[in-house]
Amino acid sequence: MKIGVPIEIKNSENRVGMIPSGVFELTKRNHEVYVQTNAGFNSGFLDEEYIEAGATILDSIEAVYEIADMIVKVKEPIEPEYDLIREDQVVFTYFHFASSEPLTRAMIKSKSVCIAYETVEDNDGSLPLLIPMSEVAGRMSVQQGAKFLEKPIKGRGILLGGIPGVPPAKVLILGAGIVGYQAAKMASGLGAQVTIMDINMKALRYVSDSMPNNVISEFSSEYNIRKHIVDADLIIGGVLLKGAKAPKLITRDMLKEMRPGTVMVDVAVDQGGCFETTHPTTHQDPTYIIDEVVHYTVANMPGAVPYTSTMGLTNVTLPYVIKLANEGWEQACQNSAPLARGLNIIKGKIVYKEIAEAFDMSL
Ligand code: NAD
Repeated sequence: MKIGVPIEIKNSENRVGMIPSGVFELTKRNHEVYVQTNAGFNSGFLDEEYIEAGATILDSIEAVYEIADMIVKVKEPIEPEYDLIREDQVVFTYFHFASSEPLTRAMIKSKSVCIAYETVEDNDGSLPLLIPMSEVAGRMSVQQGAKFLEKPIKGRGILLGGIPGVPPAKVLILGAGIVGYQAAKMASGLGAQVTIMDINMKALRYVSDSMPNNVISEFSSEYNIRKHIVDADLIIGGVLLKGAKAPKLITRDMLKEMRPGTVMVDVAVDQGGCFETTHPTTHQDPTYIIDEVVHYTVANMPGAVPYTSTMGLTNVTLPYVIKLANEGWEQACQNSAPLARGLNIIKGKIVYKEIAEAFDMSL
């Protein structure tokens, strides 16, 4: 199969859909890989490395879309790409169709086969192609929180781990899923005093069994949250209600209870946020302050660490790419239920219920 890897042209997107080791695995299996020049540059991979791994470098995005049977990328296609996508071409990427009717209509019109990373679903309900990005955001939330706790950026001026003779900072984490667990791991590693809350007892039991002694698990309730916010230095929001908006666990009135310079990182911002005062920000201007509380609410946190994020993403997408290339999309989806759940639009027809419902369209 001919596989194309274009540059991501969405604003501030520095990741790439395939790294040289992926090219190596595909060309070893007699597939051809066409990479747009400089596609991997922002993630730290040079054209020469792709060539060495067996890829052909192409000069333009048009050339990549023109030759490829399957496009492998990261973000959903944006308008300039709509007309480049051809009938019967397989496009394997994050789509998030339900949040864009123009994209959905454009992909229907293209008659391509759209397989969405975010709906590839294992039999236990987990989403293997989303997990690494939550791992990145969870770990990064502590890094960012620690930075914005510094005084020059209007934080409380406290070091997360303290020093001998001076107590460490207090970190409150809401949600003990992928984001929350990884945040707790980082914050505890730095020596902070961590409380992590969830409503899922299984998640809390896992935290309790596996985390060091400076991590305390506590059931999530308004009462318990109000008790902790008065002296928390850093609050991290990582809750998710599958398919729904995040619950507002920190309400506007609660900010007045907090100490000036408290930092709140809302990782759940992409689902509307779990703080009432959350609105999405960008890496260029990541924070804002309300009632002397610093809010960090970047909607695309992994974009700031493209090297790690690209590697994490391609580690999990490559086995599916190989399967699609070896067997063709129809056979591959017949043989793999998780991959079949990734099918969103096939040759002009929506095949994923929630997307059809989002726009009142038929399946
Ligand atoms: P997850 O499903 O692994 O974990 C979510 C946890 O929230 C679950 O354990 C759930 O029980 C818990 N929860 C639900 N209601 C709760 C409540 N009232 N109190 C406390 N806990 C509650 O999800 P995840 O992978 O950790 O993702 C969390 C959020 O982070 C999602 O919205 C995801 O889209 C987002 N995310 C954002 C970025 C970013 O760049 N901003 C990156 C990756 C993920």
